[in-house]
Amino acid sequence: MLLGLDIGGSSLKAGLVDLNGKLVRRESVATPTSLIDFRRLADSLISRVASGTQIVAAGIGCPGIIHSSSTRVENLPGRMNYLQGFILRDLMEGIVPPDALILADNDARAALAGELMFGSARGKSNALMLTLGSGVGGAIALNGILVRGFSGVAGHIGHMTVNPQGSYCLCGNRGCLETYFSARAFEVEALAAIQRGCDSLLRQRFGADPLSITCLDVFDCAGEGDPIARSIIERGMRYLGGVIAGLLHTLDSEVVILGGQIIQAGPALLDPLRRDVERRTHSLLGRTVPIVTASVGENSGIIGAASLPLHAARMERTAAVK
Ligand SMILES: [Zn+2]
Repeated sequence: MLLGLDIGGSSLKAGLVDLNGKLVRRESVATPTSLIDFRRLADSLISRVASGTQIVAAGIGCPGIIHSSSTRVENLPGRMNYLQGFILRDLMEGIVPPDALILADNDARAALAGELMFGSARGKSNALMLTLGSGVGGAIALNGILVRGFSGVAGHIGHMTVNPQGSYCLCGNRGCLETYFSARAFEVEALAAIQRGCDSLLRQRFGADPLSITCLDVFDCAGEGDPIARSIIERGMRYLGGVIAGLLHTLDSEVVILGGQIIQAGPALLDPLRRDVERRTHSLLGRTVPIVTASVGENSGIIGAASLPLHAARMERTAAVK
């Protein structure tokens, strides 16, 4: 049995996953706010999940920059910055046998490992994944390898510059993709339009409580023809389509997988995005690259984490055959 630990901003989830990617046990707790509580709660969570089971390998998915084999949290700004410098595998001591492989990685990369082993990228070696949430995360598989780069930063697709003179981003740069396309960007733009008094469906529905607006509300208003909501969404989509097209020209991926909360917008997101990327890439690539949603499902964080050692073992077998 594989053990997967998914460290998220709101919850810690652990589960047992069989070799077919099926989740057989799962538990979660709210994410603690200090390292002492984190160690205590994570230890008890993992012990409960692993109890009475032989664990053959374990994986950990975590936001930020994570050293895969040492499992050290290299950089994690924000609420969970208490984990910086922490060795995540220490949480498994005494629970996972000492000879079992334990790997950790950035959560978007873990999600792509899950899709490569059990989901939309199964059987494929070249895949591009974007997680479309409050920010935009990403991961790249190139010739079967999860690309980490020189210092583990590779895949921060949300911080690709799309407008050098654009607004400042959390990362300190200007005009990053996620300042135009992300739940946070759509909500901030909609809030600003309401506060300026722009006449729109957004103001009619959310004028009394503009902070309650979600990015899916903006998609809904756009779908009902509201010109301001449409302009916010369409501008974001143009930048997203341009970035995906540029990445396909750079990486020559077989498939683009979209995850994250914004995929709940469904065809309102996928249909125009597919048309735009096709229009931008068909001439050079000579084919239509499928843009699909992640298929591992609601437990993708745990299953993705558990897939990290499986994917690494598959890479090692492939290298041995070559
Ligand atoms: Zn940025």
